[in-house]
Amino acid sequence: MTHMAEVEKEIIPVNEPLLGTQETRYVMECLKTGWISSEGRFIRAFEEQWAAYCGMKYGVAVSNGTVALQAAVASLDLSPGDEIILPSFTIISCAQAVTYNGGVPVLVDSDPRTWCVDVKQVEKKITPRTRAIMPVHIYGHPVDMDPLCALAEKYNLVMIEDAAEAHGAEYKGRKCGGFGDLSTFSFYANKIITTGEGGMVLTNRADYAEHLRSVRNLCFQRERRFYHTELGHNFRLTNIQAAIGLGQLERIEELVARKRWMGEAYTECLKDIDALQLPVEEAWATNVYWMYGVVLDERMGMDAVEFARRLAERGVMTRPFFLGMHEQPILQKIGLFQGERYPVAERLARQGLYLPSGLALTQSQLQQVCEVVREVLA
Ligand SMILES: *Cc1c(COP(=O)(O)O)cnc(C)c1O
Repeated sequence: MTHMAEVEKEIIPVNEPLLGTQETRYVMECLKTGWISSEGRFIRAFEEQWAAYCGMKYGVAVSNGTVALQAAVASLDLSPGDEIILPSFTIISCAQAVTYNGGVPVLVDSDPRTWCVDVKQVEKKITPRTRAIMPVHIYGHPVDMDPLCALAEKYNLVMIEDAAEAHGAEYKGRKCGGFGDLSTFSFYANKIITTGEGGMVLTNRADYAEHLRSVRNLCFQRERRFYHTELGHNFRLTNIQAAIGLGQLERIEELVARKRWMGEAYTECLKDIDALQLPVEEAWATNVYWMYGVVLDERMGMDAVEFARRLAERGVMTRPFFLGMHEQPILQKIGLFQGERYPVAERLARQGLYLPSGLALTQSQLQQVCEVVREVLA
C-alpha cells in the first residue's frame, strides 16, 4: 500500500461512515435466509420506520436519492412545458428529475446565510405553468418552510421536498422530510443514515404511494403482470440494503447527536477566523451539519480550489460546494437558463468547500483539521 515514509501525517478523509453491529446482524440474516433481492422483511420495516420517524404515512424505498426525485416528479404526470421551481445551488439530480419527466426547471438563488433557496424570491418565479416547488435542505440546514408552504397553498402547487442532506434536521420542531406532498431521501454512503446506495420517497397520500411502488417496479400490474399501461423503471432497493438502513435507523438519535457535536465543535474552533463564513443555525432550525461547509472570503486572494489544494497538501481532504444549475454546461446546451445569473449561488460555488464531516471523524482529527485551516489562512 503506502510506503512507511509517507505515513508520517495522517490523511483525514472527507467522509467515513460508521457501521454498527446491528447492521451486521441484519445483513447476516439476509444472507442466511436467502432474502437478498428486493423482497424481504427489512424493506417494509425500513420504509415504515423511516416514514414514522419523519412523521409521514407511507415510505417507498428506491435504489438511490436521484431516482427518488425522479419517481417523485413522475407522480405529477407533467405535460411538456410544465415548470418546477428549485434552487440553482443544489445537486444536478434535482434538475434532471424535472427534465427527464418532460418538465422545465425554473431556478431561484440562495439565501446567503443558510445557503438554502431564498424563499423571498420564489413567488416572482411562479407562472401559470408552475406545478411544483422543490426546496432542498442544504448541508443539513432546513429551508424556511412556512413561507413556501403558504405559496404552495395559495397557488395550488405540489411540494417536493428534497431532504437527502437533512436526516433528523428540524424546522420549528418538525422533522425535515415531513413537509412535502412528496419528500425524498438519499441513503448514499456519505448521508447520515446510509444503505451504501439507496433512497426513499415519503408521502401522506395513498395514491402517490401506490403509483411510486408501481413506477419503482416497471409498472408491472397486479392482475396481469406482463401487461403495461405505463412506462416505469427498476428503481428497487435490496433487502440487504434495507437491513443496513434499519440497523442504522435504530440508533439515529446517536448519529444525529454526533453530527451536531461535530458541527458545534467546528464552529467553536473556527468562529474567530474572520476570513471564513461558517454554517448558521437559524432560530427556527435544528441543523444536523450533514457536511460542515465554510465559505472563504475573496479578500484572502484565494478561491476554494486553491484553498482545497493547500488543505490537501497538509492531509485534510475536502469537497467543493455545488456548482449552480445555471452554470452547468449540459443544461445550458439543452437551452436552459440562458443569460440567467444567481450571484449567491455563484459565490458559494467559487468560495465554498466542506471540511471532513464523516460520522467516524474523531475529536483529535477535528482539532487537527482546525489547526491546518488556521495554518493555511495565517
Ligand atoms: C445526495 C443527494 C441526492 C442524490 O442522492 P444519490 O443517492 O447520490 O443519488 C439528491 N439530492 C441531494 C440534495 C443530495 O445531497
